[in-house]
Amino acid sequence: MTTLRLEAVSRAYDDTVALENVDLTVRDGEFFTLVGPSGCGKTTTLRMIAGFEEPTAGRVRFDGREMASVAPERRDVGVVFQSYALFPHMNVAENVGYGLRFRDPPGRTTVDERIAELLALVDLEEMGDRSPEQLSGGQQQRVALARALAPAPDLLLLDEPMSALDAQLRESLRRQITRIQSELEITTVYVTHDQAEALAISDRLAVLRDGRVEQIGRPQEIYREPATRFVAEFVGDNNVFEGTVLSTDRDGARVEVGGRQLDIPALPDGSERTTVCVRPGALSRTATHNRLPVTVETTEFLGETVRVHGRWNGREITLQLENVPERDDLTVGFAPEDAHVVASR
Ligand code: ATP
Repeated sequence: MTTLRLEAVSRAYDDTVALENVDLTVRDGEFFTLVGPSGCGKTTTLRMIAGFEEPTAGRVRFDGREMASVAPERRDVGVVFQSYALFPHMNVAENVGYGLRFRDPPGRTTVDERIAELLALVDLEEMGDRSPEQLSGGQQQRVALARALAPAPDLLLLDEPMSALDAQLRESLRRQITRIQSELEITTVYVTHDQAEALAISDRLAVLRDGRVEQIGRPQEIYREPATRFVAEFVGDNNVFEGTVLSTDRDGARVEVGGRQLDIPALPDGSERTTVCVRPGALSRTATHNRLPVTVETTEFLGETVRVHGRWNGREITLQLENVPERDDLTVGFAPEDAHVVASR
């Protein structure tokens, strides 16, 4: 069991700053995700935790212990990468047992018992004798997971382990990873650029942008209370409006957006400009407040709901409706308390 801390960690490559001043703590047994767009520094962070690279500034600590002088093979981490990276000349059981050449199996189990235990854990009991090329992509990734877990590492690091799989397989592997992680209670850091996956799988997540932490929180917090405009737009669909504050008191504020007045929750005294977010699901045709006339441009049928893209007052707007609208013009509204104010950066 391990707590992981990154303290003011930076990493530069010549002129490129890959990470800047990153502070985060991953708690014992937690499933923690690093999410953000391509190039934001997720893999670099993971590589520094694993010890494949050193920070140019700051510290990485496992249970309080500084790791700078500890080589990767002595860090007691299990890593699963995007590409399956199984050894093609070894069968499945030999792949799983690979890490046990350097480290004894935990407890009193023998190597063979440990391999059988891990194959059962990832639901591949019958596959030990197969060669990796006889497995599907999802099965190969489960073997890679079993191999990483065989020596019972303190920390599990997963770098986009599902990105090569199709949507259905991703979902089933995601459920399996969640089950295994909570069964083993192993501290886990997961990297993905897929925000929906990050929300679904994590106890907490850090949203990264250009090498910096934008926000850390539980999935519900990140979704419902994004701290910045970037997080509001990166995580899920959102409607974001910049407005001028007309008035604010204890009960709420009134802002002007493109010549229209909207009622939103109270703002700090002295606010002049503000950035307001309203989730598509908060906009409804029956709401009586903040009525917005929308011109429909495109609709996407999603099964349970319909996503509608349109324009309000020259601005792009996204709605989530139950049915495909019959007309191109409709009016929706939102309750003031469903608007969320973010920092505009
Ligand atoms: P992706 O989702 O595309 O894998 P990422 O968020 O994992 O992206 P990183 O791979 O950590 O991003 O890269 C962060 C930044 O550091 C990028 O600008 C990248 O080009 C740069 N970078 C990473 N590794 C090196 C390197 N070895 N030499 C120079 N620049 C690097």
